[in-house]
Amino acid sequence: MDCWICGAEGTTGEHLVKASDLRSFFGKFSQKSPLYFHTKGKRNIPVGSPRSDRFKSKAKICKTCNSATTQPYDEAWERLSAYLRENISQLRRNDRIDLSRVFPGATRKSLLHVHLYFVKLFGCLIVEHCIPIDISPFAIALRTGIPHKNIYLAFGPQLEHPKRKFAGLTPVDAVDRDGVSVFATWCYILGDIVVDVIYSAEKQYMQVVSVVIGPMPQIAPKKHAALRMWQSGMRCYGRPE
Ligand SMILES: [Zn+2]
Repeated sequence: MDCWICGAEGTTGEHLVKASDLRSFFGKFSQKSPLYFHTKGKRNIPVGSPRSDRFKSKAKICKTCNSATTQPYDEAWERLSAYLRENISQLRRNDRIDLSRVFPGATRKSLLHVHLYFVKLFGCLIVEHCIPIDISPFAIALRTGIPHKNIYLAFGPQLEHPKRKFAGLTPVDAVDRDGVSVFATWCYILGDIVVDVIYSAEKQYMQVVSVVIGPMPQIAPKKHAALRMWQSGMRCYGRPE
């Protein structure tokens, strides 16, 4: 399979929950003290290493895209992820998060990199689950470092503190028209932190999305109206079997 970002030979699958998030959130784990992986069909599959293929997308990218091209994007999310988890009480109180504290001196550029990190994950989901969304703007955004104009991010706390330590991705819920997804959303969940990633290709959805953010990510502590769109009738892609 070719790298969907640049077309070279694809050699690796991207971690769908970032390896650094797994390590810093769950601490060290091993064959003797594994994490437990769940899908729709199977529960409690022991996984002993953050490098396990279970954590990775089946969409392939090449070594260059995995390292040189997208490493700054990975690092930006790693930093914001750590900050949000350390300051979850601030997020729960709906206080503003001062992003210049997270990224002093390079706030705008770093937030663009966070945006591009989720553009990369979304691209992997689109390729892996054959979601009918044009992948080329995703690849161009990653290669040029320019935001994808239809992607929006919202960061917020889980409504309730989860009983168990949990990290994962929701399936992608999409509104399809004439065989093409015009709106799609999924969440990246890391304990108390939820990142809602939204693709909106049509203006009519912008009303819903306008309370969220984009294309540059910011912090949206309040639960936003996009959740109202999570209803029956939406097409669901990639629920793991
Ligand atoms: Zn590549």
